[in-house]
Amino acid sequence: MKRFEPVIVGFVCNECVYAAADLAGTTRLSYPSNIRLIRVPCSGQVDMTHILRAFENGADGVFVGGCLKEQCHYVDGNVKAEKRIHFLRETLKAMGIKEERLGIHFMSASMGREFANFAQELTSTIRKLGPSPLKGKTKTIHQNGKRAMLRDMLLSMAKKADVSKIDFSVVIEGFGETEIDKNKCIGCGACDYVCKDGAMAVEVKKDGLLIKNTYWKCTACRMCSDVCPKECLEVKDVFDLSRFLGGKEEIKTEVGMTQCENCGKSFLPLMLAQDIERFLSTKDRTGEFLDHCPKCRKLDQADRIRRTQGLAGKPMRVKSQKSSKRLTTKWVK
Ligand code: SF4
Ligand code: SF4
Repeated sequence: MKRFEPVIVGFVCNECVYAAADLAGTTRLSYPSNIRLIRVPCSGQVDMTHILRAFENGADGVFVGGCLKEQCHYVDGNVKAEKRIHFLRETLKAMGIKEERLGIHFMSASMGREFANFAQELTSTIRKLGPSPLKGKTKTIHQNGKRAMLRDMLLSMAKKADVSKIDFSVVIEGFGETEIDKNKCIGCGACDYVCKDGAMAVEVKKDGLLIKNTYWKCTACRMCSDVCPKECLEVKDVFDLSRFLGGKEEIKTEVGMTQCENCGKSFLPLMLAQDIERFLSTKDRTGEFLDHCPKCRKLDQADRIRRTQGLAGKPMRVKSQKSSKRLTTKWVK
């Protein structure tokens, strides 16, 4: 019977593990040809999507090779990679797939012999496990960027896995969620403006402001919390696969708005109105004009002037700009 020959993909860092493999070659140490090495600048650059893609495309085993602990040429790339591998191994286990198919190994550039031995051992382990059950099973076409790709992949994994069995004790960098104190937020929209990943959105609704944080898009860069003028936004490092399953991909915060006393329209965030009133009180002025929306305020002002001219109650012509090109006029009482 023909012996099963596994395909093993290794993402190895240029500085150490690739150099160790090179050394094994130049010193004529043999290791199995089942290992296909992909050289990367640092193991910390190996994303979860790279590993899942390798499995999707037919790898029976995948490993990441990084520098020895505390000797990473990019400070902590190997530590970041280790956390990602931990999470993926836990997920594979929860899906009933042997976690030995994925691993991380640390070596220095001078460990050519160790690399050859490791390659031998890994190949025999994967050979015993047989072909990967993930092969070709989860292949999907991803077109909407790396984050969307990761979300789709994790979602398909989460559906197959028993999420309660996954150990989330290790925080994976690059995932976060925001917490907004709605009793302080003035709805300025600065967080939405600076978020380059499109994870924040401030929407004006009929009865208030809605601030949405899309969990899977947030990279925990903390730009939003840095610019928040009221310091009411906190970003937490969180990674929780159960959210993908529960469909809780958005964290919504509702911010109250003041309503126009005349037409009832929401027009100004409550906290901002309070801030303006507080400022005006320091200048011995009142904020009574904040009781009306801009449109009603104009009409109110016009009405006051007309009363002084004895035109109260008569129709008045107002101009409204419906588009940048067209001006319309209408009569109001
Ligand atoms: S959370 Fe901060 S930055 Fe965002 S809308 Fe509120 S006040 Fe502005
Ligand atoms: S932490 Fe970064 S990615 Fe996340 S919502 Fe704030 S600005 Fe956007």
